[in-house]
Amino acid sequence: MAVTGLRMGVVGGSIAGCAMAVAGIRAGADVTVYERSAGALQDRGLGIAIPPALHERLVATGYLGAAMPTAPAATRVWLTRAPGGGSAREFARQPSAITACNWGLLWQALRTAAAGARHHRGRPVTSVGRAPSGRAAVRTAQGEETYDVVVGADGHRSLTRQVLAPGLRPTPAGYTVWRGTLPLSALADHPRPLELLRGAWVTLGFPGGHGIFYLIPRGDGSGPDDRLLAYAIYATPPGRTPDEAGYVRHLAEEHFPDAWADIVARGEYAATTCHPVADLHAPLAADPPFLLAGDAAGVTRPHTASGAVKALQDALCLEEALRSSPSAADALRHYARERTPEAARLVELGRRLGRAQVERAPDWAAMDQRAVDAWCRATLAGASSYLYTEAGTD
Ligand SMILES: Cc1cc2nc3c(=O)[nH]c(=O)nc-3n(C[C@H](O)[C@H](O)[C@H](O)COP(=O)(O)OP(=O)(O)OC[C@H]3O[C@@H](n4cnc5c(N)ncnc54)[C@H](O)[C@@H]3O)c2cc1C
Repeated sequence: MAVTGLRMGVVGGSIAGCAMAVAGIRAGADVTVYERSAGALQDRGLGIAIPPALHERLVATGYLGAAMPTAPAATRVWLTRAPGGGSAREFARQPSAITACNWGLLWQALRTAAAGARHHRGRPVTSVGRAPSGRAAVRTAQGEETYDVVVGADGHRSLTRQVLAPGLRPTPAGYTVWRGTLPLSALADHPRPLELLRGAWVTLGFPGGHGIFYLIPRGDGSGPDDRLLAYAIYATPPGRTPDEAGYVRHLAEEHFPDAWADIVARGEYAATTCHPVADLHAPLAADPPFLLAGDAAGVTRPHTASGAVKALQDALCLEEALRSSPSAADALRHYARERTPEAARLVELGRRLGRAQVERAPDWAAMDQRAVDAWCRATLAGASSYLYTEAGTD
C-alpha cells in the first residue's frame, strides 16, 4: 500500500534536498523546496566520489540523467615521497572502483530530475515546528505553510534538526581539510602524475596526514580531457595560521614529491576551500512529521567519501518507504529504522579512518603493499566501505 495525496516540504535545495524532492515526486507527493541561496549552486565544482553501482541505480531509476558526465577510476594508488629525494614512491595499489563526479554537475542533474517540484530559491526558512493540526509548519518571511511531511535537507547546521535533536552540534576532529580543483592545463609540466590519474585515484601519505587526488569531469565538453584535478589534503595546522593556503603549500613543499607539491602550489589556478573537519549524527533520522536527510541527519568525516552517497541513499529509502507504507507516519518510521543506524555507522567509520590516516598517521615511508592491506583491514575492523572493496575482508 502506498501513501497518497501527500504534501511534502523540503528545507534546502542542494544535493540532499533535490534528491529527496525526486523521491517525493516519484512516490506521488506534491513537493515544495525552499532554498536559502539565490545563487547558482551548480558553480560549486568540487569533487564527489560515489560507488559505481549506486550511480547505475540512480540512472536506471531516473534520479540522474545518463548524460551527466562522470570520471570513473578503478584503482587506488598509494604514494609517498621517496627517501632522500623529490620523486614519488608508489607503495601500494588496490582495486577501488569509484565514479567521480563534479559536485555542480551532480546537483544540476538532480535539480533537473526534481523539476516537478515547486522550487523557491532565495527563500530562507526561518523556523519549522508542529502546527496545532499536528502537521509540520514551515515559516519564511513570506508566511507559513503546513505539510504532511517536512524534510530537513538543510546541511550540517540544520535548523530542522533542532526540532528532533535540540542543541546537537558537530564534534570537531581537531584537524583541517584543504580542498581544491585545477584545470588539466596546470599539469602540463607533470605528465607522470597526469598519466597515473587517468586510471587511478591517488592517496599521498606524508607525516601527520594525507592527500587524495582524482580527476572529475569539468562539464564543458566530452572526452578524457574534459577533466579537472580535484584534491583534498588533511593535516593539523599548528595553532591558528594567518595564511592557511600558505600553510598547505608549505606542507606540500616540505613533504610531497616535487611534482605533487608543484600541483598544490598552483594556487593561482585553483578553486580552493579550507575548513575544520567535524562530524555528528542525529539520534533519530525521522520523527513524524519531520525527517532529516544528507548532512542534516549526519555529517561523516570526508575520508569515507559518503556524505553525498548517504544523501542519495536516503532519497532511495524514502521513495521505497512512501511506496510501501500505509501512512506518512509509517513511512517515516520505516525511514528512521533504516537510516538512523547508517548515519551512525558512517560517522564511526569516518572517525576510525581519520584516526588512522591523520591523527595517528603511520610512518608511510615504512609501508609496502602487505602493510597497507593489513592496516586497511585493521582500520575497517569489519566495516564495509566501497573505497576498500578487497582490503576490508580477509
Ligand atoms: C573535503 C570533502 C570531500 C567530500 N567528498 C565526498 C565524496 O567523495 N563523496 C560523497 O558522497 N560525499 C563527499 N563529501 C560530502 C558531501 O559534499 C556532502 O555530504 C553533501 O554535499 C551534503 O549535501 P547536503 O545537501 O546534505 O548539504 P548542503 O550541500 O550543505 O546543502 C544544504 C542546503 O540547505 C540550504 N539551507 C540551509 N539552511 C536553510 C534554511 N534555513 N532555509 C533554506 N535553505 C537552507 C543551504 O543553502 C544549502 O543549499 C565531501 C565533503 C568534504 C568536505
